[in-house]
Amino acid sequence: MTTIGFIGLGAMGEPMARNLLKRGMPLVVHDVRPQPVAALAELGARRAATPREVAEASDVVITMLPGRDEVLGVYLGPDGVRDGCRAGQIAIDMSTVPPMTTRAVAAELAPRGVRMLDAPVARTREAAVSGTLSIMVGGDRAVFEECREILGAMGSDVSYCGELGAGEVVKLVNNMLLMANIAALAEGLTLGVKAGVDAATLVDVLSKGSSDSFALRNHVAKFALRGDFGEGRFSVDYALKDIRYAMEMGEALSVPLLQHAVTRQLYTLAKAHGFERNYYPVVFKVVEQAAGVEVRGPAHKETRA
Ligand code: NAD
Repeated sequence: MTTIGFIGLGAMGEPMARNLLKRGMPLVVHDVRPQPVAALAELGARRAATPREVAEASDVVITMLPGRDEVLGVYLGPDGVRDGCRAGQIAIDMSTVPPMTTRAVAAELAPRGVRMLDAPVARTREAAVSGTLSIMVGGDRAVFEECREILGAMGSDVSYCGELGAGEVVKLVNNMLLMANIAALAEGLTLGVKAGVDAATLVDVLSKGSSDSFALRNHVAKFALRGDFGEGRFSVDYALKDIRYAMEMGEALSVPLLQHAVTRQLYTLAKAHGFERNYYPVVFKVVEQAAGVEVRGPAHKETRA
């Protein structure tokens, strides 16, 4: 049976690895933090001390790391995946990184006979736990087909997006649109409240009109309205990382991203307020503080699935 190596057992990686174990897939795990490694070892995973050891012990290596620096370090740094890999293996990077990073890693692994996919994910930690992530895949289609079962253990929507890096392109476009939507909602709802309309009423009625969005019905209705911007979910720092990667892509391809330059400044302001580790819709607080009102209300029920 295919042995899977899993590196990066954080908010997303740990539950994703658990879902592979639940399907009976043999697992070798590594993280710089001992706690999630120990938790998975208790469930039957083997521990590896370095990414190199993970590669030596597995057929497919999956990485779920914070960003570009960690991905380059884990694959190409000392005792990295490159040092332990062998011909016939597959590497799947599920972290959100620039497409150029995936391609740079793949170019280093290819001479050793290792094939690579990029497979970043959308949705929340809850979706990682329930195995219902949306997974966006780039790379050779035949390699994608070989990995369908593995990816299907972690996600309910697995989409083939095109050549290597295409998954990351779709993911970064997704996130830049989401960050901009949240920023626009923070301003619009703060204006509506200051002009005298109840926050829950605004959310309810807007969700039935043409400004409805996933972000309105989920991030705003379930979290911002309750003032729930706690740590441990996708943070302002991670939002800024993804906007930065998207802006770099825009610059490299000469695509103007005017809206997103402004969006980036709002998230930078949130970081300057000390909110870098908070759940990223905390940008509401930045706009609210400037306006002197709060967009709060009773937890709003989702009006549509
Ligand atoms: P996280 O910070 O919770 O987890 C990252 C893990 O990587 C940590 O356990 C950390 O110890 C480990 N790590 C860091 N450097 C390492 C190294 N050199 N060697 C081994 N392990 C190392 O991050 P997360 O929320 O799980 O996100 C992972 C990726 O998924 C990111 O690229 C993020 O942008 C993306 N993502 C996150 C969410 C979310 O809601 N949290 C949603 C979609 C996509």
